[in-house]
Amino acid sequence: MSSLAKIYNRRKISFKKGKGSYLYSSNGKKYLDFVQGIAVNSLGHANPYLIDAIKKQSKKVWHVSNAFLIPEGEKLAKKLTEKTFADYVFFQNSGAEATEAAIKVARRYFYSIGKPNKYRIICIKNSFHGRTIAAISASGSKKMTEGFGPKAPGFDHFEFGNHKQMKKLINKNTAAIMVETIMGEGGIKIIPNWCIKELRKICNKKGILLILDEVQCGVGRSGKFFAFEDAKIKPDIVPIAKGIGGGFPIGAVLMSKKVAKGMTPGTHGSTFGGNPLAMSVGNAVLDQILNKGFLPKVRKLSNYFHSELNKIQKQFPSIIKEVRGVGYLIGLQLLFDQTKFIQQLLDNKLLTIRAAENVIRILPPLNVKKSEIDIALSIIKKVCYNYKI
Ligand SMILES: *Cc1c(COP(=O)(O)O)cnc(C)c1O
Repeated sequence: MSSLAKIYNRRKISFKKGKGSYLYSSNGKKYLDFVQGIAVNSLGHANPYLIDAIKKQSKKVWHVSNAFLIPEGEKLAKKLTEKTFADYVFFQNSGAEATEAAIKVARRYFYSIGKPNKYRIICIKNSFHGRTIAAISASGSKKMTEGFGPKAPGFDHFEFGNHKQMKKLINKNTAAIMVETIMGEGGIKIIPNWCIKELRKICNKKGILLILDEVQCGVGRSGKFFAFEDAKIKPDIVPIAKGIGGGFPIGAVLMSKKVAKGMTPGTHGSTFGGNPLAMSVGNAVLDQILNKGFLPKVRKLSNYFHSELNKIQKQFPSIIKEVRGVGYLIGLQLLFDQTKFIQQLLDNKLLTIRAAENVIRILPPLNVKKSEIDIALSIIKKVCYNYKI
């Protein structure tokens, strides 16, 4: 009998080691891991470069308080700001903390310019921003908020794609619009570039902030460092997490100089956030992902993956409704519940994970090999062939 709280319905499978795209189960089976901790292990399992970084740092210093200078964190923040829209970064340990901080930064900005009544955040109904009280309130999903007492006030919701409804929600109390550039848990739903552009315009016009939650789709997963890059706009605040730590828990909120003004000493904090051990891993992850040629290769190979998946979709239109996503944030939307299909992929040694709307999420490491993609494709095809609807 497990003593772990029953918050998860766990698969009865555990792993004794991993290497690159593969996981080895305790009972001696080898699985192609296209879950990678849910878009977390961006460079695969047991990456030698990351092992080296954590080993080296672990012998020097693991943790010091943010009351002192942390050069490894300075370095990572510098890299992130040089490569992106952001002027400042603050580190946390998870996605929920990063989105929570994003909300705080937005509200605090308006407070600091003498507009404390501008605190409401407009979000997409049933989006995902994490599991803290504020984050579940931001999502507005009944499944996540039910039974947890009063929701955090100050969140308004519109249905995905309902622009009219969204515009109607903006009023004098609105501080920001916060959306996932690509909805991950929600079923790999992309907000198109023209929409992101439009959001930016609306925010400018109304004097409110744009928060793009890139916790799942950011840090190279889309083939660009940020999924919003092709929209050619600058958001005000971007929380990231999952991929940046390559498996080590790191969250970060990136912000422009303008909005950072409100975040003065004492207004926010984190005991663990940005400690030297985490930061040395984050630096190593970014070294790889920002390497010239790394992201172009992600784009090239992932395009191949998508086009092959689309061929399979055309071959099995009574099973697969649609191939969704971009880069290595891929969704196979089935025409029916995906549970059995995911189990059959697993029986054939391919690990995938569900998302909303009957979607099977496929999340290979960003350095996946073409030969591994081909193996996944043949397993998916095989399961389609043998699938009894
Ligand atoms: C996973 C996720 C979060 C929450 O991250 P945790 O590390 O689980 O707290 C927030 N936003 C998005 C878009 C996510 O995918």
